[in-house]
Amino acid sequence: MPEDTGKTNPKHFIRQIIAEDIANGLDPKDVHTRFPPEPNGCLHIGHAKAFCLDFGMALENGGKCNLRFDDTNPTKEDTRFVDAIKEDVHWLGFDWEDREYFASDYFEKLYSLAEELILAGKAYVCTLSPEEFKEYRGVPGKPGKESPWRNRPIEESLDLFRRMRAGEFEDGKYVLRAKIDMNSPNLHMRDPAIYRIKKMHHHRTGDKWCIFPMYDFAHCLSDAIEGITHSLCTLEFEVHRPLYDWFIDNTSIIKTLKVHPRQYEFARLNLSYTMMSKRKLQQLVEENVVDGWDDPRMPTLSGMRRRGYTPQAIKDFCEEIGITKFNSLTQLDLLEHFVRADLNKTALRRMAVFDPLEVEIENWPEDKVDWLEAVNNPEDASAGTRKVPFSKSIYIERGDFMENPPKKYFRLTPDNEVRLRYAYIMKFSRAEKDENGNIVKLYCTIDEQSRGGNAPDGRRIKGTIHYISKPHALKAKAVLFDKLFTKEDMTEIEEGKDFKDYLNPQSKVEKDILIEPALKDAKPGEPLQFERNAYFTRDTKEPAGQIVFNRSVALKDSFPKA
Ligand code: ATP
Ligand code: MG
Repeated sequence: MPEDTGKTNPKHFIRQIIAEDIANGLDPKDVHTRFPPEPNGCLHIGHAKAFCLDFGMALENGGKCNLRFDDTNPTKEDTRFVDAIKEDVHWLGFDWEDREYFASDYFEKLYSLAEELILAGKAYVCTLSPEEFKEYRGVPGKPGKESPWRNRPIEESLDLFRRMRAGEFEDGKYVLRAKIDMNSPNLHMRDPAIYRIKKMHHHRTGDKWCIFPMYDFAHCLSDAIEGITHSLCTLEFEVHRPLYDWFIDNTSIIKTLKVHPRQYEFARLNLSYTMMSKRKLQQLVEENVVDGWDDPRMPTLSGMRRRGYTPQAIKDFCEEIGITKFNSLTQLDLLEHFVRADLNKTALRRMAVFDPLEVEIENWPEDKVDWLEAVNNPEDASAGTRKVPFSKSIYIERGDFMENPPKKYFRLTPDNEVRLRYAYIMKFSRAEKDENGNIVKLYCTIDEQSRGGNAPDGRRIKGTIHYISKPHALKAKAVLFDKLFTKEDMTEIEEGKDFKDYLNPQSKVEKDILIEPALKDAKPGEPLQFERNAYFTRDTKEPAGQIVFNRSVALKDSFPKA
């Protein structure tokens, strides 16, 4: 296990801050957080880290967590993502009760607060072009230059702002700016834009508005409107924090507050071999590199769900990685470790043959079928048993027989008996070969006294293999997923390269397999272990007439033990 974990350090710094606030008099029930996704894509595992923290901190203290859609940018947002986001948050077991909000619900209020700033001489309408705006702002270490419109009379700014709202001007003609400090070492404080003109349709407000508030203005004031106490976000917002406070402290909203909202920043989750930028994930979807946002190779929660990851595994992972102040790269193996640990507890064991070799049981009557009792999950007695058929003709894995085995090969050989899972002990008679010497079929016998798998004389059988009865075998497809990218650190793409240069051509491999009858009733999302192979779940999007299983994760833990 990695050394920096949430468990070894149960008091990560955000827990500590909240505990101190409570020690200083904050009622725990007043701890109020929010998860503020922008509805411009589906949630990924990084968002899960964020909302496990947002909801987790509220739950731990008996407080509240709001779900707020940050829909201040009309160009990119879409209602279908709103629904997808809600499904994903619910999937992890979190609930915002009746507190589902949209930043766009506050547009009227935000507008009035902007007018307030103008009237107080703390905001002005600026006529600089976007290029000039940038040039005047300056660079770090060098002061900016004041806009010639900075001292525009209050009445004139107010009039222009109202006419901006009324739709009199083209996009980009004017912006409303906060009047703060063009000499500030923090570029975000150099008279940042508050409102810009954008004549676009908005997914909720329709065409009512043609001016939209900037994120920095809308976010902190939305927090204040909702009574948020702890506004948790990723590190890149650290430099925006003074502005966050400035907007709250310089508008009348401050008078309504029981608790001043505070922003705290933590490191975002970066996962090895994984791309987390929503914009780039969207590109993969749009260019059909993957089959949609819920492609099981995507780091999205919908992709992970379709792949058979469980909510518990994702929550355990988020708790384990903890919350820190420095950016780092978390190993994908660690996530898989938690997926495997949870699936081991819950997955139904089933048999499937991937590379079939036919075996005829010479001493078994032609039409006899024996239905054997098979345990569904050795980790969970309550999962019960099922019946598995055994007959004269069976399939085993080709790799489970060797004519000339190396030492320590304990499966079937001309000299080694082997146990067929839940069934009988089987002994080799002869192999049938084609003209090239390839084995096409085996002939074996079983020990009739060994029903259930134990030798009547107590002789030791080292190997146990799985099988499928040929007349009962069903055809299915297994989709073997692997890392989507071949590069470990996808946050650093070399110059001249594109992130798509690192796509793994082996990330999705389809295989025809044979499955036991019970598997035809498997349900999507239900965890399965194909014994001795991997964890799988049934796909939600099977083509008609096909049975498809998605590989969730391999059986073996590749995560290095400390
Ligand atoms: P983009 O990828 O377009 O920059 P975003 O990932 O910031 O967008 P939002 O919808 O704005 O997407 O994110 C909602 C919340 O999730 C924010 O508070 C953000 O800080 C947090 N978040 C986003 N990505 C991660 C990540 N990789 N790790 C932890 N938190 C994240
Ligand atoms: Mg964002």
